[in-house]
Amino acid sequence: MYQLLDGKQTSIAIKDQIANEVRQYTAKGMRPPHLAAILVGDDGASQTYVANKEKSSHEVGFTSSVYRYSSNTSEEELLRAIEFLNDDDEVDGFIVQLPLPKHINEQNVINAISPDKDVDGFTPINIGRMVLGEDAFLPATPMGVCSILEHYNIETEGKHCVVIGRSNIVGTPVANLLSRNKKGANCTVTLCHSRTRNLPEITRQADILVVAIGKQEFVTADMVKPGAVVIDVGIHRVPDETKKNGYHLAGDVKHSEVDSLCSWVTPVPGGVGPLTIVSLLQNTMKAYRKHMSLN
Ligand code: NAD
Repeated sequence: MYQLLDGKQTSIAIKDQIANEVRQYTAKGMRPPHLAAILVGDDGASQTYVANKEKSSHEVGFTSSVYRYSSNTSEEELLRAIEFLNDDDEVDGFIVQLPLPKHINEQNVINAISPDKDVDGFTPINIGRMVLGEDAFLPATPMGVCSILEHYNIETEGKHCVVIGRSNIVGTPVANLLSRNKKGANCTVTLCHSRTRNLPEITRQADILVVAIGKQEFVTADMVKPGAVVIDVGIHRVPDETKKNGYHLAGDVKHSEVDSLCSWVTPVPGGVGPLTIVSLLQNTMKAYRKHMSLN
């Protein structure tokens, strides 16, 4: 019988720790941590993500602000906004919600963020520090994958971890973090991608299978070794008339046939998703500590 890696429960436990720490500081008369977000355009999913980040910030006692720009905002204007937030002493960390409109060069925008306030962990400096194993703001979703494994004391050392997907925001950093010489890592990692041959043959060797391929219910029972730990990073909105909001969520794993094979598996929703926001809060807390010289 498989067990669920419950991202909701894990996120509540981590949020409680953060809220306690914030209370300790505010009880001493210090201001709470502040997370800012830049939102460009009116994409529905981006608006929901930013609203959820604000809600979670308030739940742990942070203050927050959202800087909204229209979809025809110029890159120069956005770069000025970033400069303003880089210099604002009341802001501990901020994010630029992606994707940005096509006429804006995303990498130029990311490069402009001060590495000390880059709580999404997307700047080249933080990615470089992560790869070197130095202290860094880690990207939120990969950090969430590690947090959920750690929360449930899943043994990782010496395990064969297969990651499907090599994006800069999920697959590649997950592979990097799980292969580090560190507690909660030390896996032997295989990174699979669109040009990988004999994918099922490789995924069937996985003790831990992390799926970030962006294809709905792609991983089927024949691709999973019995007893494996399966982490499903995928999120897909599936039209569903029976739901009030008109859709339900599905992952990159076909849970109806895969779950019964697993020892542990993340559900969708309620798996990696809640941990992604919590990682952002953890990074903001870390930025605040540094900014206030608390460690
Ligand atoms: P992406 O599209 O950028 O990357 C997908 C990767 O899959 C690519 O590297 C590609 O090489 C690989 N791939 C494509 N087809 C393949 C095939 N046939 N065989 C093997 N590999 C193949 O996606 P992403 O941004 O990494 O996101 C992956 C999934 O995770 C998406 O469903 C996304 O919605 C979800 N996501 C969830 C969260 C969260 O908070 N839970 C955060 C980010 C992304």
